Amino acid sequence: SKSIGGNSFHFFNTYMDRQGHNYIAVVTDLRNALKEGEFELYFQPQIDLLTQKIIGAEALIRWNHPKKGLIFPDSFIPQAEKSGLIVEIGEWVLQSSCTSCKSFIELGFSEFSIAVNVSSQQLKRNNFAQTVHSALKNSNLPAKHLELEMTESLLIDNSLELKQTVTYLSDLGVSFSIDDFGTGYSNLSYLQEFEIEVLKIDRTFVKDIEHNPKNKALVTAIIQMAKGLSLRTVAEGVESQEVASLLKALHCDSGQGYYWAKALPEKEFIAFSKKCSTT
Ligand code: C2E
Ligand code: CA
Ligand code: CA
Ligand code: CA
Repeated sequence: SKSIGGNSFHFFNTYMDRQGHNYIAVVTDLRNALKEGEFELYFQPQIDLLTQKIIGAEALIRWNHPKKGLIFPDSFIPQAEKSGLIVEIGEWVLQSSCTSCKSFIELGFSEFSIAVNVSSQQLKRNNFAQTVHSALKNSNLPAKHLELEMTESLLIDNSLELKQTVTYLSDLGVSFSIDDFGTGYSNLSYLQEFEIEVLKIDRTFVKDIEHNPKNKALVTAIIQMAKGLSLRTVAEGVESQEVASLLKALHCDSGQGYYWAKALPEKEFIAFSKKCSTT
């Protein structure tokens, strides 16, 4: 996202290069953004590599700053995490994602799920399961349409509470995916411990598989392992037809990336999906 994050880079400089009260300024600004409704969800389609149909979308947060314009998450999620505001922002993301997904389903996207990024602080809150449950109830969204993305580092801390939260939500019908798979820890025992359904192969491995034999070997191995464990695979950062075809040949289940679409505002996402289903 660096190439398209011009605004956010500027924002990052202004706030973070001069330490101290600039961090406080951004946190104040974030708190205000929540109150004023300046956050917006964009949706990036996830495509089934066999059928070329849209099977879901990842919800990605954007900040429409009144003065600074569109700001990308890499420029404010770290500050939101540090300040703890990620918990409230995360609740907003969950609720809005469920509401949007419900409206997509009403538009006829039947086999569709929404993937929501969850930060470690959010998941470790003891009322997280309740927060998810409320978001589903408030939006009237059946749990099977919701997928929660977690990073490996989160599951390394394999506490009883965390296991209970994941089990409770899985029993409700919510599914879990591992985000940025392969970039975290080498100890994979958490795959046995937790009810995981999806591995999202990180884009650093995916982006040049057609030229880089080591990355191709890694992606092949990840897909094989996932098959052995009955996990679905989603390749991130698919930017070309060549990569998409190669992934399909390697039996990866689905993909996400600029080759199909970047993350789109809700209206544009709906238009894109309609266009896809008629061509
Ligand atoms: P992520 O979860 O790994 O999300 C994928 C990022 O890759 C997104 O950046 C997406 O726009 C970008 N991307 C998608 N396709 C391509 C591609 O083909 N090529 C390249 N080069 N990039 C692609 P984005 O939206 O800027 O989000 C950055 C990160 O911010 C996300 O990484 C995620 O960790 C975090 N984030 C986004 N939304 C939320 C949220 O609601 N809550 C939390 N906790 N974190 C979020
Ligand atoms: Ca993600
Ligand atoms: Ca990712
Ligand atoms: Ca990432």
